[in-house]
Amino acid sequence: MTPLLETKDLCYTYGVGTPFEKKAVQNVNLQIGQGEFIGVIGHTGSGKSTLIQMLNGLIRPTSGQVLLAGRDIWEEPKKIRAIRFKVGMVFQYPEDQLFEETVFKDIQFGPRNMGLTEGEIEQRARDAANFVGLPENLLEKSPFELSGGEKRRVAIAGVIAMDPDVLILDEPTAGLDPAGRDVLLSEITSYHKKRGNTVLLVSHSMEDVARVADRVLVMNSSHLQMFDKTEEVFSHSSELESIGLQVPQVTKIMSLLKAHGYPVETCLTLEQAVG
Ligand code: ADP
Repeated sequence: MTPLLETKDLCYTYGVGTPFEKKAVQNVNLQIGQGEFIGVIGHTGSGKSTLIQMLNGLIRPTSGQVLLAGRDIWEEPKKIRAIRFKVGMVFQYPEDQLFEETVFKDIQFGPRNMGLTEGEIEQRARDAANFVGLPENLLEKSPFELSGGEKRRVAIAGVIAMDPDVLILDEPTAGLDPAGRDVLLSEITSYHKKRGNTVLLVSHSMEDVARVADRVLVMNSSHLQMFDKTEEVFSHSSELESIGLQVPQVTKIMSLLKAHGYPVETCLTLEQAVG
């Protein structure tokens, strides 16, 4: 079966031909299926951001291909905007990009550019707000009146409202307190379960990734180092440590529990018990 998302010998080099030339992604070949939840890890500068920006067509590969449902996303460069609706991206600290008068209008911004009817736009915005746990009474407020965690939810809802086939989240829990982080992660996982789409979560938190991902993609020095089932990746702790990724013991246990079908709550209780 054709994978939903695939890369073939994908490469990206910044500043080609300048003294600052930097190979950020080299020869990445990967296949991701419909409905998978993928964790993306790697030390700072390993190439994660560059990779995900190529997956949604924000930057064009220096060489190689990104295929969505079997078609090169750059086949018709003029249609690349449409790809960004299908592969939605939530950037780090996305709340910095809120600008509309009300939360409801902000969430509608993406769908409004998709040729939908007013009714469809509103429905999508309501559903998206619901997915991320934003209560109805917040919708008419200004995004600037909200707390940090609420703003983050508004920004994520704005991308979910476009109903992307692939949702990419870059460090969605960065800067939130542990309780806010747990709630947001479980909202993302329940959205993924209900919608059944493909999700890529970039995170420096091994623990978050172990909790939610089916498979984990590990970037190291611009290369794809590993791409395997979560429990398999976290069982290679010495290999991960050799590339600067510390895997806490509890993370390994959590990924094993999850792999055997135990609910996330069991993992959380375990984490608290282990400390
Ligand atoms: P990560 O997301 O894993 O931190 P990045 O994809 O941001 O990694 O960076 C990969 C490499 O590319 C790093 O060496 C980084 O310094 C370099 N890089 C990233 N963005 C730029 C840019 N705009 N210009 C030049 N080099 C860049």
